[in-house]
Amino acid sequence: MINLAIIGGGPAGLTAGLYATRGGIKDVVLFERGAPGGQITSSSEIENYPGVKDVVSGLEFMQPWQEQCFRFGLEHNMNEVSKVSKNGDFFDIFLSDGSKVEARAVIICTGGSPKKSNIKGESEFWGQGVSTCATCDGFFYKNKEVAVLGGGDTALEEAIYLTRMCKKVYLIHRRNEFRAVPITVKHIKENPKIEILTPMIIDEIKGDSSGVTGIIVSDVNTKEKRELNVPGLFIFVGYDVNTQVLRQDDGKMLCDTNDLGQVKVDLNMKTSVKGLFAAGDVRESAMKQVVIAAGDGAVAALSAMEYLQSQFN
Ligand code: FAD
Ligand code: NAP
Repeated sequence: MINLAIIGGGPAGLTAGLYATRGGIKDVVLFERGAPGGQITSSSEIENYPGVKDVVSGLEFMQPWQEQCFRFGLEHNMNEVSKVSKNGDFFDIFLSDGSKVEARAVIICTGGSPKKSNIKGESEFWGQGVSTCATCDGFFYKNKEVAVLGGGDTALEEAIYLTRMCKKVYLIHRRNEFRAVPITVKHIKENPKIEILTPMIIDEIKGDSSGVTGIIVSDVNTKEKRELNVPGLFIFVGYDVNTQVLRQDDGKMLCDTNDLGQVKVDLNMKTSVKGLFAAGDVRESAMKQVVIAAGDGAVAALSAMEYLQSQFN
């Protein structure tokens, strides 16, 4: 039996682990299916985390977090959690390797995953010219033309990043207005390597055995079509929260979620189930920022510590 299980090792989970272990809680385990760090490790840069004044890549940014957060005894179990269930006063953590761990309290920090666009050819050429990570794949298109789909912060920031290595970047968005913050939109409009195509949609991704060879785009208003001979398409159309671990055998969720599937919490990150907390992008109305996920993680850990002391001491 462990005291606290933290599911997910992004900024929320790592911070929760730091606060819980530094606060004196023993037997705290962070379940993270891959290397800790979370979504931000796929970002080419971060410049809005207070105290970190230099622009660094997401990977570089998370490196000291990993060192600091494991310093006080936090244990990393590199495993995927398939389900979390309540068993009397305790929780059962079911792992994808078939094993089970019992915990007195749980913090869900599972974040989100990139959404698919469902464009014709997306699945066929996924990883063969279709990507959701400019940092990982941008280098393959050095001095070539690429296209980016989406109008949010991720699409615009990654389009700017791609201009550093690519000859030209087509930014395709279905509306004339962007969802991204105004300063990023300004940077996009001022960048001579970016051609903005709005309001446009992608009808089809074309390719052959070597991968993507081009895309067909069409104007939402005029329906006029255009073929872009790009070998790479970066899709950034948002993401879904990862709440599969909360789904029970009867199909119901372990705790209350909203219409978007996000976990409902109070200001102390408490869910509707005693001893179960949620933090970061997975929770309702999250602002989806590293600084907020980290703050949530700290709050959830402090609440979990209070719960453990009041229930089991
Ligand atoms: P995540 O970072 O999503 O971490 C969740 C972790 O849980 C992941 O590591 C995942 O592997 C793990 N996990 C999920 N399910 C399971 C399971 N079943 N079992 C085990 N492990 C599991 N924010 C900013 O503040 N500034 C930025 O500049 C910025 N840039 C961004 C750029 C990009 C490309 C993206 C995608 C996001 C960006 N964000 C930025 C948003 C920021 O990354 C997120 O708000 C933040 O990472 C959320 O942290 P989290 O810990 O809640 O979740
Ligand atoms: P997002 O804000 O949800 O934007 C998704 C974009 O994709 C929208 O412009 C949307 O168009 C478009 N879209 C959705 N489905 C589509 C489809 N099927 N076909 C074509 N276009 C489609 O997602 P995000 O950009 O990944 O950002 C997620 C969160 O992380 C946001 O809260 C964001 O602020 C945050 N973030 C912050 C930073 C930063 O602070 N620097 C950086 C990156 C991300 P519509 O606009 O028409 O809906």
